[in-house]
Amino acid sequence: MGLRTLDDLGRVADRTVFVRADLNVPLESGRVADDARIRATLPTLGELLGRGARLVVASHLGRPKGAVRDDLRMAPVVVRLAELLGAPVRALGLPREPSTRAGVEGLASGEVAVLENLRFDPGEEANDPTFAGALAELADAYVDDAFGAAHRAHASVRALPELMLASGRSAVAGRLMQREVEVLSRLRRDPARPYVAVLGGAKVSDKLGVIRALAERVDALLVGGAMAFTLLAAEGARVGRSLVELDRLGDAREAVAAARARGVRVDLPVDVVAAPEVAADVPTAVVDARAIPEELMGLDIGPRTAEAFGRALAGARTVFWNGPMGVFELEPFAVGTRSIALAIAATDAFCVVGGGDSLLAVRQAGLEEAYDHLSTGGGASLEFLEGRELPGISILEEAS
Ligand code: ADP
Ligand code: MG
Repeated sequence: MGLRTLDDLGRVADRTVFVRADLNVPLESGRVADDARIRATLPTLGELLGRGARLVVASHLGRPKGAVRDDLRMAPVVVRLAELLGAPVRALGLPREPSTRAGVEGLASGEVAVLENLRFDPGEEANDPTFAGALAELADAYVDDAFGAAHRAHASVRALPELMLASGRSAVAGRLMQREVEVLSRLRRDPARPYVAVLGGAKVSDKLGVIRALAERVDALLVGGAMAFTLLAAEGARVGRSLVELDRLGDAREAVAAARARGVRVDLPVDVVAAPEVAADVPTAVVDARAIPEELMGLDIGPRTAEAFGRALAGARTVFWNGPMGVFELEPFAVGTRSIALAIAATDAFCVVGGGDSLLAVRQAGLEEAYDHLSTGGGASLEFLEGRELPGISILEEAS
């Protein structure tokens, strides 16, 4: 099940390489607000440029749903990429526009061009072979570095590499994709024990599959965030106005019971920081997680929970974390997430964090260096850990 990588690409000097990157960055008033994803793909771009390739880089940006939207054009990304590369980067149009073809043909060896937002064309999300064909015409080889999009069967992720392979051209993983798959495979295959997973964030329905899959591998599961309230409610706790997915109570109860039956320790919050509404300037109270007053909602784990989770993490040798422990965007409810970020950083464990918001929390706490791997894929990393086949990865694997 080996992944083909840049090492398998052969000679690329003077050839055009299509790089599917994940440049789906947050924008603020027409500028890139956070360039982490652009920086994450620089090793791949740098290596290919060093080997003399011409690069056509493409990504989606936001959710334009198949139509052109001026506020989701790639222009700000092109500007930031050029700054980071320290070299000019050409902005091209949409793949099916004739001028795009001409622009690619005009590239010199060692030059970079960026296509316009792939999702402006409805063919991208539809995995349309005609659209993929237009992309395939632009390049001699294909490199996928967009781990964050690997769980989507979209044209630039799936149909395009299929076409490349079918026509005898290469389709391989970039260095970021390679590293993501290596690290997450390690968690899936032989994690050092004890292996502790910390789950939080908003929706339990998105993460029930992960709970079930992790239960087969971890020694302990620590659950905070909004999702904890569905699990607590499933056990008959009084959770006030906290977020609960009523249609998932049964599934939640089963998932936790199954984990415990396998001998996995499942820790839910014992206390929470509660408030009458989600706002920065409301009165807060620390209350028992199983007896939250009717008019309040739990918005962060409490101090006793943070301490208990910290103790459970202390002896871990592998840690996977996804999802903040509370509404960390607001200072009164950010303490629990910060303390978990610190507790994980303080262990000697192999520490992996995935998920956009969790990553932000780690970076806001200035702890990036203390983690072994910051996964650029939220949904993709969870689906990978669930053991699902990701369409953007399986196509890059050697036939076994
Ligand atoms: P990630 O991006 O790391 O995968 P999610 O997107 O699943 O994480 O969840 C992050 C969101 O969950 C944040 O916006 C946070 O405010 C919210 N959240 C966490 N705990 C609670 C809670 N107790 N009540 C409401 N929202 C919560
Ligand atoms: Mg999120």
